[in-house]
Amino acid sequence: MPLPLQGRPRAELLNELRTKKENDGRWEDGRTFYLVYGVDDDHLQTIQEAHSLYIATNGLGSGGMFKSLGALEADIIGIARDLLGGSDAMTGNITSGGSESIFMGMRDAVQRAKAERPHVTRPEMILPISGHPAFWKAADVLGITPVVVPLDADYRADVKAVANAVTPNTIVIIGSAPNYPFGTIDPIPEMAEIALRHGVNFHTDACVGGFALPFLRKLGEDIPPFDFSVPGVSTISADLHKYGFAARGTSLILYREAAQQQRSRFVLNQWSAGPYGTPTLAGSRPGGVVAAAWAIMQRLGEEGYLRLNKQMLDLTRYLQAGIGKIPGFKIMGKPAMYVFAFTADGRDLAAVAAKMSERGWYILRQPTTPESLHLLLTPIHQQSADTLLQDLRETADASPAEVKGIRAASYTS
Ligand SMILES: *Cc1c(COP(=O)(O)O)cnc(C)c1O
Repeated sequence: MPLPLQGRPRAELLNELRTKKENDGRWEDGRTFYLVYGVDDDHLQTIQEAHSLYIATNGLGSGGMFKSLGALEADIIGIARDLLGGSDAMTGNITSGGSESIFMGMRDAVQRAKAERPHVTRPEMILPISGHPAFWKAADVLGITPVVVPLDADYRADVKAVANAVTPNTIVIIGSAPNYPFGTIDPIPEMAEIALRHGVNFHTDACVGGFALPFLRKLGEDIPPFDFSVPGVSTISADLHKYGFAARGTSLILYREAAQQQRSRFVLNQWSAGPYGTPTLAGSRPGGVVAAAWAIMQRLGEEGYLRLNKQMLDLTRYLQAGIGKIPGFKIMGKPAMYVFAFTADGRDLAAVAAKMSERGWYILRQPTTPESLHLLLTPIHQQSADTLLQDLRETADASPAEVKGIRAASYTS
């Protein structure tokens, strides 16, 4: 499409946008199980309105022109400190997402190694196979070699393998709370202890769990320690745009000590336009999503998050019980929250996935051993839970012969 010669009427192009998205995944109907964290209309309006109030602002000016953005960010970091066991020394920044938060966590490990162990020229990161691709991406960019460790029988990082993987080049060990593929929490205290013993960083990836596990614990669930209450945890990534229910484009990198934030900053003092400094990878940063994150936290409050987490917990139990009743179907490991995988003994899950896709569901298929389907539940799925179970029961017997070229769901863009 060429750029139109003349500008078009606003109503016309907005209508065209509405039409264009009609065939996208119907997340509003609870049909999608990744990429979107839906709640309800009040939630959507809150983040939309706060976002438009701040749409013209720029986070690059959060210390000057847009001081109110800096204050909103400080409020959000303070809330995260209370939820994630931080001391007064804990600090952090809003990033564009989990991948950028993880990048900053890995940068802190690199900066520490440069300062404390300058002889390390081929730095290594130790991560479980369930660790998020963002670690591999950060490793690729920062010149770190990923050293992968397997999982134990419960789909959690194998602590012995972690201990054995440490070399003089190790600069950081990674654990997830929880990991994405299975929703299980790695043995963070044991892993962080290994990092502490060797004087290297430990990063807890709480992108999924950071704004859910603290509320689940308050609801009485048995959640093992994973945050700054664990000695040895150096940095935490926690996504606001997942279970914080903020707008897409917001996550947190959190540092145990303010000095880590200082050493991970980028500063340049020889640019023609003058001094330049940023705490994250981004330069200009959208202010709208920061306002939206602040607004949804204030709108929900602790009561709201507890209510939504209770709702998702009940829904998860209901769906897991229903799935477990389909002959052959089985939940993998002991998922900590609303993210989990199930296998189907004696069934063809590829065919099941294709049939489900034909019926308008977006469900991730995982090349685990054995193969699995992946669900990620949010409050929006209350309305679709029974239909989902019914469709799973109806497609459970699907055979490859019935399936023709259906798109496979995957995380690629
Ligand atoms: C989503 C996710 C990430 C990466 O977050 P993005 O916001 O997609 O960049 C990292 N770790 C885990 C466990 C995740 O689920």
